[in-house]
Amino acid sequence: MGISFSQFAEILQPYLKKGLSVEDFVETLFIAILDEPDDDFDLGVKPDTLKSYYYGNTQINSLAERIATYINADRFEQYINENIGEDAKKAIAKELRQFDPSITLTNVAKKSAAIFRECIQSAAVLPRKRKSKKEDNNFPAGQKKAVAKNANSSISYNSLLLMESRGICHYDGCGKPLMLFSNGKSIEDYEIIKIDSKVSDSFNNHVALCSICAKKYKTTANPTNISRLKEIKRQLIAETKKDAIISDIAIEEGLERVIKKIEVATPRQLVKLAEEPVETKKKIEAKNIMLITIVLGFVTQYYPYVDDLFKQASREGKLRFTTFEQQIRLAYLKLKDDGLQQPEIFDQLVKRLSNSTNEKKEPCAVVISYFVQKCEVFDATAE
Ligand SMILES: [Zn+2]
Repeated sequence: MGISFSQFAEILQPYLKKGLSVEDFVETLFIAILDEPDDDFDLGVKPDTLKSYYYGNTQINSLAERIATYINADRFEQYINENIGEDAKKAIAKELRQFDPSITLTNVAKKSAAIFRECIQSAAVLPRKRKSKKEDNNFPAGQKKAVAKNANSSISYNSLLLMESRGICHYDGCGKPLMLFSNGKSIEDYEIIKIDSKVSDSFNNHVALCSICAKKYKTTANPTNISRLKEIKRQLIAETKKDAIISDIAIEEGLERVIKKIEVATPRQLVKLAEEPVETKKKIEAKNIMLITIVLGFVTQYYPYVDDLFKQASREGKLRFTTFEQQIRLAYLKLKDDGLQQPEIFDQLVKRLSNSTNEKKEPCAVVISYFVQKCEVFDATAE
């Protein structure tokens, strides 16, 4: 067939959801071919990337790998039938015929769905033509495997489920690694478990557990266990989505030094903030009392010290402070756009900084609190 996603999307664009931005249109297309996504489902692809899928500047491979197992062509066919009138179908059929001469007015919805499915499935198994660096962070390095061509094969399920679990058994209180590495070889010790045997065979109804927990779950599956495992699975799905949207925070030597110094600061080095940190108070919603307490505490205790450390690092040319500040701002805006609440945003920013610098979470929370007071994180609330 040989049609690219970009060509396909361009043909449909004039007839579907008029008035949508390019990125929203592309997202709508993908969601329409996925297996019953939740209402708050998010593809986890940044708007810029969605746009460049449309214009053909970025290949859809890494998204395709992630979604290949949830494709449901019937849903897409239905979507076309519900959203496109006869005239538009005629026009689409005419354009698509250059890729598949058997397309007619009566089968255009079904054929479009088949073409789209083929686009995704072939992209999921093809070697990447152009790496999208951002998206490669969705899953830990080394765990990325091409999805098998058969969308329902257990192989593709397994590797995706393993990625989702980040190689750890998430059953309550376990935390055992699902793969052990010894002498350069990996030893797998996991089982794919169907969470609820009464529910259909979908990706969302499976999870990877260590062999011990898997056995335990299978022998004691009762309503309480089942709903608990469902909850664990929901969290895994939410985590995967969040990871996909947080932008990279570029790390410079100076930043790690600042964070290290914060960690070992002595009471004598810390001059408390003279006035009340009004900015912080204004920007955190009153209901987030725990977050207010944490951030106010950190700001009062550390703000002048952190401010000095950053100034010193930029003076010495060890850190491009403005760039870093912008990155924090940008990361915050993206999380906010995605509808995350203030405590989650704060938590994600801290986690991200901590992961990229390999430093402890507490000093990173001090840094993020500093940016709350500096007005880069959180905007003034209505109150
Ligand atoms: Zn376990």
